[in-house]
Amino acid sequence: MYKAFLIKYSEIGIKGKNRYVFEDALVRNIVKALEGVDGVFDVSKEQGRIYIEAKSDYDYEETCEVLQKVFGIAAICPTELVEDKSWENVCKRVCEFVDGQYEDKNFTFKVFAKRSDKTYPFTSPEIGREAGAVLIDRFPEMSVDVHEPEVKITVEIRSCAYIYSKSIPGSGGMPVGCGGKAMLLLSGGIDSPVAGYMIAKRGVNMDAVYFHAPPYTSERAKKKVVDLARKISVYTGKIRLHVINFTEIQMAIYEKCPHDELTIIMRRYMMRIAEKLAIDSGCLSLITGESIGQVASQTMQSLAATNEVCTLPVFRPLIAFDKQDIISVSERIDTFETSILPYEDCCTTFVAKHPVTKPDVMVIRKSETKLEDVIGEMLERAYSSDEIIEVG
Ligand code: ATP
Ligand code: MG
Repeated sequence: MYKAFLIKYSEIGIKGKNRYVFEDALVRNIVKALEGVDGVFDVSKEQGRIYIEAKSDYDYEETCEVLQKVFGIAAICPTELVEDKSWENVCKRVCEFVDGQYEDKNFTFKVFAKRSDKTYPFTSPEIGREAGAVLIDRFPEMSVDVHEPEVKITVEIRSCAYIYSKSIPGSGGMPVGCGGKAMLLLSGGIDSPVAGYMIAKRGVNMDAVYFHAPPYTSERAKKKVVDLARKISVYTGKIRLHVINFTEIQMAIYEKCPHDELTIIMRRYMMRIAEKLAIDSGCLSLITGESIGQVASQTMQSLAATNEVCTLPVFRPLIAFDKQDIISVSERIDTFETSILPYEDCCTTFVAKHPVTKPDVMVIRKSETKLEDVIGEMLERAYSSDEIIEVG
């Protein structure tokens, strides 16, 4: 059982003066993620490294799995922690470590050494060389290859000594909380949860909005969206999900506007409402799951017509993704099975047989004037229907 984990991070490492901001956010997110694991851990940062020390028994697999979902981590190294860092003891523990890790010792290796304790009686190259010699002495099947070793054993001498050779890949990305906040338009489909996941990976916090159209969309459809929000919150952190009653607006569009323009006009109202919610809750951008050409409402012309109503930047991380690639991500992040549950979506309930694929913005604007008399009040009612569900 490993007593500690050393956390390596990639992009944060290249930050200048602000680096501590990113490191502190990563430490916070790791602490938060480990709250869900049965065990007591101490998370600390020390000279470009984050260490997790287990202060009790814990579930190794579960701990690794949880850490693999924290953005900002490049690799997780399960580490042997040696408190008595006297040279004799370090050599003894390096041998025990290798013996415990590798039953078959027919491999090439190299010992990498790092020393931040400059009072230690050996330099880093000396530690590497000496530890290598001790290992060969003890396990003659092992052989050194300094260029392409099969096993890289690292010995770090700090306030304690740390020995590790395994590196479990992390999610990469940036710690959530460092990249501002955005409003995700979250439907019950496959795409939008993936879009949220991808933007969160760049360190962005998010709230979400779901447009609900009861009785055309059921409580089960709403629950599905809440479940999706909860599933991505493992990656994104806490999400405040706004559920907006969209029925009245949708009905009005259906009654007053040309049916082939329904989806575009509806999407424009969704964007307008989402933008207001975003501004009210400190979000600096919107996120959607759109992808060029996926459906009639996502052609270049449709996207332009939808985009036109917003002033905040709209991020569409899936814009150049094929559906199959989006599905692969959704399977990996475990949203796919929920997304494909067959509950109706407000877009499918009111969809036209032959929607425009190349909407003309001027024509759309003109169609929207048919709503002039009623839309102001309807928007007010939609805003005041806001039900906030917190997940994560
Ligand atoms: P998804 O799989 O994300 O539902 P989709 O392929 O069904 O996407 P559309 O229905 O055209 O595509 O929706 C495009 C985007 O608009 C979605 O990715 C989502 O961001 C947003 N959206 C659509 N419907 C809703 C809704 N009911 N509530 C909130 N956002 C929505
Ligand atoms: Mg959809």
